Amino acid sequence: MGIVVAKFGGTSVGMGERIHKAANSVVNEYMKGNKVVVVVSAINKTTDESIKLVKESIGDSVTEKQLAGILSMGEMQSVRILSATIESLGVKSEYIDPFSEKWPVITDSNYLEAKIDKDETKKRVQEHIMPLLDQGVIPVICGFLGRDSHNCVTTLGRGGSDVSAFLIGHCLNADEVIIVTDVKGVMSTDPRKLNTARKLDKITVEEMIDLANYGAQVLHPNALRYKDPDIKAKIISFEYGDLRVKGTDIIGPANPDDNVVTISMLPDKLSVIAVVGENLMSKKGIIADITSKVSDNDISLYGISTGESSITLFFKKEDADKAHEVLHDLVIQGDELSSLSLGQEIAMISVVSHEFIDTPGIIANITNPLHDNDINIVEVSSSQTAVVVFVEWDDGEKAYELIKETLQ
Ligand code: ADP
Ligand code: ASP
Ligand code: MG
Repeated sequence: MGIVVAKFGGTSVGMGERIHKAANSVVNEYMKGNKVVVVVSAINKTTDESIKLVKESIGDSVTEKQLAGILSMGEMQSVRILSATIESLGVKSEYIDPFSEKWPVITDSNYLEAKIDKDETKKRVQEHIMPLLDQGVIPVICGFLGRDSHNCVTTLGRGGSDVSAFLIGHCLNADEVIIVTDVKGVMSTDPRKLNTARKLDKITVEEMIDLANYGAQVLHPNALRYKDPDIKAKIISFEYGDLRVKGTDIIGPANPDDNVVTISMLPDKLSVIAVVGENLMSKKGIIADITSKVSDNDISLYGISTGESSITLFFKKEDADKAHEVLHDLVIQGDELSSLSLGQEIAMISVVSHEFIDTPGIIANITNPLHDNDINIVEVSSSQTAVVVFVEWDDGEKAYELIKETLQ
């Protein structure tokens, strides 16, 4: 017995039969004694079609506010149909759209990529949605949409219904969030691109965020910001018409505070080795040769970055002589690499935050204070959620403090 948020994507409600199936699965869950909140996307490709229509009819002169209003029609339609279908199965249901008094999701006025006011939303979820659950009503809430302080409709960005589901789950202290979609779960890659893709039984929040940030459409990259560690979450297929079916469980996060920036400095000294050669980018297999050589000799690699004429590698200081020797063997064995150098003692500082993805200028924020304090940066590498800075060992402690001051 608990609170379950079930989110249906566009394909999952893509035709009458599927809407019926979705409603039925919700009612079955409710009959088991659970409180169920439904979040739904626009039916099928409605959002794409509306965008196309607007392009053809209005072109670039459409305002963001107008476009958000037009796109919202997709979800305004689907909540009404799904809610009425649930009622037709004999359970009380109420649809909730941004014009409803009970509408919970409050945002700023950035109409197409609105930022959520988490506190206000939580207050409204507790005030308006929780009582419906207590009265035995199944609320059906528009995914993707928000409302600003002037009561205008906003959207959370394409694919944003996933964000709505996890946000509402968080605000309700729900037990489970279930994402119902057109694949059996999270797969080893996009099954539309490779038919050898396999379903994963589970994936961590951290892995899923990186996968989504690099383009896996199956879940919006911002959705898991709202996943608390003790809320169960899974992605399942609509095909079975059963919310209890197995899909992919999403586990975690290990670090529950989504705003946290973790800054850490590796306590060990690293050494840097630069391997040089001509036009390295166009030569096949060089990186593989280097990394295999390193791993065959049981040496851990702490960082690697590649350039046109050099590949820079970071090792623990105690492994550096060995790495130097084995990489030198590689250099003299072939013609592609000309030489290598074993450099100074290095400190490695890692800065990790899921906020980085939409924080413009984050690398500058980290590196500017170092530059202002005359600290030479040996190397910077970055991904969507982490920035790793390598500096000379003697500057390490100071660089670490400066980065902490800037970001925390
Ligand atoms: P919904 O409308 O239910 O939100 P989406 O189309 O947004 O569904 O997301 C589901 C799609 O994500 C799948 O049809 C699939 O093509 C795509 N996808 C991309 N990468 C993956 C992956 N690793 N695992 C599963 N699906 C993926
Ligand atoms: N209907 C919206 C879109 O197509 C939101 C969503 O599907 O999550 O982007
Ligand atoms: Mg989607």
